[in-house]
Amino acid sequence: MTIISTDKIINWIERYAGHIAEQKDYLTELDSAIGDADHGANMNRGFQAVLAKKADLQNKDVGALFKVVAMTLIQTVGGASGALYGTFFLQASAAAGAKNELSPVEFGTVLDKGLAGIVLRGKAAIGDKTMVDALQPAIKAFKYSIGVGDDFKKALQNAVHAAEEGLKSTIPIVARKGRASYLGERSAGHPDPGATSTVLLFRAAAETLS
Ligand code: ADP
Ligand code: MG
Repeated sequence: MTIISTDKIINWIERYAGHIAEQKDYLTELDSAIGDADHGANMNRGFQAVLAKKADLQNKDVGALFKVVAMTLIQTVGGASGALYGTFFLQASAAAGAKNELSPVEFGTVLDKGLAGIVLRGKAAIGDKTMVDALQPAIKAFKYSIGVGDDFKKALQNAVHAAEEGLKSTIPIVARKGRASYLGERSAGHPDPGATSTVLLFRAAAETLS
């Protein structure tokens, strides 16, 4: 049976921090087109701070581990993305609780609670041109895949694919939430920065968790 250990979850978070660091300039460039040119810098500041707390991440249950990530993002990232990704990990933390490992089904539930936190906080729906456009289809694809009996690796690959498709779907649309919405029609024709960083979250998961 597939088990997602806390060691694997730490690898996931570290790999994501690595992807963010590599793509920092690209994420900021995307945000310069439809926002205020800080998404890469914001995310990198937050996840470098998480990396600096490596010792705090170890020897914890899944809930406590996610809580360190959440609080670090909330405390170090200015900007909508810090509050939103922070909320994601805070709700994930509450959902995981004192478990020391997760099954793929439990992982799906944890992701769902994280998404619900983002939606409650940011009030974005699919099609508003936000991170939700990548996150929601990715989680749906993951849960569907697990539900039909795919192995964990395949389910994560399907989640990555769905996140990428969701990201693509943000390009033509006009933003209805966040700073990009201030641009009105001019926000069309650009990928959403937060949906782009969400794709990286799932890529990192597929590379480390299964
Ligand atoms: P800020 O917009 O404060 O400068 P960032 O640039 O770091 O913060 O993050 C921007 C991203 O945050 C957007 O690309 C979008 O994906 C996401 N975002 C903004 N507002 C919302 C919201 N209300 N709900 C969900 N995601 C949002
Ligand atoms: Mg910004």
